[in-house]
Amino acid sequence: MSDSTQAISVPDRILMGPGPSNCPPSVLAAMAQPTVGHLDPWFIARMNEVQDMLRAVMRTSNRLTLPISATGSAGMETCLVNLIEPGDRCVIGVSGVFGQRMSDIVERAGGELVRVEAPWGEPLDLAAIESALKAAPTKLVAVVHAETSTGVLQPIEEVSRMAREHGALLVVDTVTSLGGHPVLVDEWGIDACYSGTQKCLSVPPGLSPISFSDRAVEALQSRKTKVQSWYLDLNMICSYWGEDRVYHHTAPVNMIYALHEGLRLILEEGLEARWERHRRNHELLKAHLAELGMGLLPKPEYSLWSLNAVTLPEGADDLAARKRMLTTYGLEIGGGLGELKGKIWRVGLMGHNSTERNVTLFSAAAREVLRDEGV
Ligand code: PLP
Repeated sequence: MSDSTQAISVPDRILMGPGPSNCPPSVLAAMAQPTVGHLDPWFIARMNEVQDMLRAVMRTSNRLTLPISATGSAGMETCLVNLIEPGDRCVIGVSGVFGQRMSDIVERAGGELVRVEAPWGEPLDLAAIESALKAAPTKLVAVVHAETSTGVLQPIEEVSRMAREHGALLVVDTVTSLGGHPVLVDEWGIDACYSGTQKCLSVPPGLSPISFSDRAVEALQSRKTKVQSWYLDLNMICSYWGEDRVYHHTAPVNMIYALHEGLRLILEEGLEARWERHRRNHELLKAHLAELGMGLLPKPEYSLWSLNAVTLPEGADDLAARKRMLTTYGLEIGGGLGELKGKIWRVGLMGHNSTERNVTLFSAAAREVLRDEGV
């Protein structure tokens, strides 16, 4: 039996799954600084800096830009429940797990759900989105920019143009893209954007940055009904993050320190340089996979740099192979979800972990493990 009186000792892991990714030492050190009060003037100055840095990383001047105090799923829920009122028609792109989750939230919020589906491993069909928009007045369109379950990158600009043309708001999930791929909130006309800290931002799981455009804020302010969730009601959350500093919930102070440091590191590296690093290491991984006779599920033009959906060779024992990678190399990779279970590995090259060394380590481990499985 384990001895619960012992201090925990965390094993050394290289996190190359679908998230979390490893955090840089200075992010962990920032988190270990003393906790201060969540209304302390010193802390409020750090909150303002976090908002400024988030705006820079999200490429937006949106005033309403802040981290929600919970993981990426809470960011998803925040964007949807603050915009949807009962009966609102919502067009949701579904080509993997996270589009499905958005659909579930729309129904729970009393919205009229219109699903536009695409096969897993492919991007959404733009003509199908357009015809869904033409069919009836629509409150919002929501799509996942980086579908972590399939490794597909969904281009946003055309979806944005169509949403605007039909008077709908555009909601975009950037949980697995922010900090690894270009996410240009203002230029692409995104009205509500959410992300998570544990992927390409390389900060522990626990916060979900969001940003709302003026159009989205207007929709929020002209609601006829109360936001369905108390905790995620942006009217109240903004009173704490805005000038008034009204208590809503106790901010996770040390997580905000971690995000502060994570964002500072991103801006120090430079966004363009960081995107390029993610692209380069993704290309390197593809070259290594080709040598192993393996490839990726999505077409190259739709393949994420941050999350690689690697198709498994015939006869590979997915579970045994991943277990061996973890025990022998301390290397965590992800398996497939839903219909892709047993068919793909999800290999993350996110943030701090998108390095040449990690690509080399993964391919050496994969080569050995598959060879020993006789594949
Ligand atoms: N959206 C996408 C695309 C994700 O990959 C994830 C998590 O993997 C989420 C939403 C949910 O984030 P979390 O697990 O942090 O709640």
